[in-house]
Amino acid sequence: MKFCPNDRTLLVPAKKGHSTVLRCPKCGYEEEASGTVKDAYTHRSSVSRKSDIIVSQGRSDAPTIKARCSRCGNEEAYVWMQQTRAADEPPTRFYRCTKCGYTWREYE
Ligand SMILES: [Zn+2]
Ligand SMILES: [Zn+2]
Repeated sequence: MKFCPNDRTLLVPAKKGHSTVLRCPKCGYEEEASGTVKDAYTHRSSVSRKSDIIVSQGRSDAPTIKARCSRCGNEEAYVWMQQTRAADEPPTRFYRCTKCGYTWREYE
């Protein structure tokens, strides 16, 4: 919580260009949003966005690499690591075709 140095009014976050500032609704005083405030706001919105994507499209936030899909022949796939067995064993690498969504795992 931040207050205006002029009139002790509670500053409210406001968009200014690409950044967020804290603005006094009474006198218009502005200051840079502190890291924590900014993070709290951006974090909350990105979390809800991310969960929407996961529900509708699966692992679309994963990085992509060059890998051949055996179903459609596409040469690009999302890749991510997942621990599937005992914790002391290396995690398995999973691929998901960016085109048809076919998912497969890498066998060592
Ligand atoms: Zn003010
Ligand atoms: Zn494919």
